[in-house]
Amino acid sequence: MPSALSERLQEVTGAISDAAATAGRDPRALTTIVVTKFHPASFVRELYELGVRDFGESRHQEAQPKIATVRDLTATWHFVGQVQTKKARQIRAYADVIHSVDRISLVSALEGEPVRRAFVQVNLTDDPGRGGVAPENLLALAEHVASAPGLELLGLMAVAPIEGEPRHHFARVRELSERLCEVIPTASYLSIGMSGDYRDAILEGATHLRIGTAITGKRPGPG
Ligand SMILES: *Cc1c(COP(=O)(O)O)cnc(C)c1O
Repeated sequence: MPSALSERLQEVTGAISDAAATAGRDPRALTTIVVTKFHPASFVRELYELGVRDFGESRHQEAQPKIATVRDLTATWHFVGQVQTKKARQIRAYADVIHSVDRISLVSALEGEPVRRAFVQVNLTDDPGRGGVAPENLLALAEHVASAPGLELLGLMAVAPIEGEPRHHFARVRELSERLCEVIPTASYLSIGMSGDYRDAILEGATHLRIGTAITGKRPGPG
């Protein structure tokens, strides 16, 4: 009998394919990252058994020991939370992709070997505490990341604000992405879309979906 987890995974995978079809896009061009924060390493193994290869974490103090215990899996780890400058070197040690580069002062802290892929996070709210660079400073930061040794700029990441239609916010990210691509054509990837809004994100060009609860079910801890 299929587990509840495998049923949710299948359901979301199906919904992603449907949204891609609606958007006239190839679902194979979409990377679904399952965000496993607050779930134990054993849960990561369960997801791996079900075919998941891309995993996301948002808190360094939780991610570091967890990922260390599943190093035997051939998986890609995505760090999606805010990065403290003093933890940057430790995070780049285990995270293949860092989705949340949001300030120039963080860039030099993230340089090193091997090359890590990175997204610049853009803040769509007026609250600087939300993480992400203000849209007006986006290009300068992106150029910094693109020229940093040891970082490969993939594109933009954003979280839709609670207020307003997600689709409207994602359309804005798409516009910012188009402007960025005029300067850095290779930075065309878009990390947008979570459990509640991934369909809208796919319609606006998402390439990386960061999905937690819709697949994992309720998180065990706060969050
Ligand atoms: C937790 C988290 C997600 C996943 O959230 P869900 O709503 O559970 O899908 C995605 N992105 C970031 C940055 C997160 O912290």
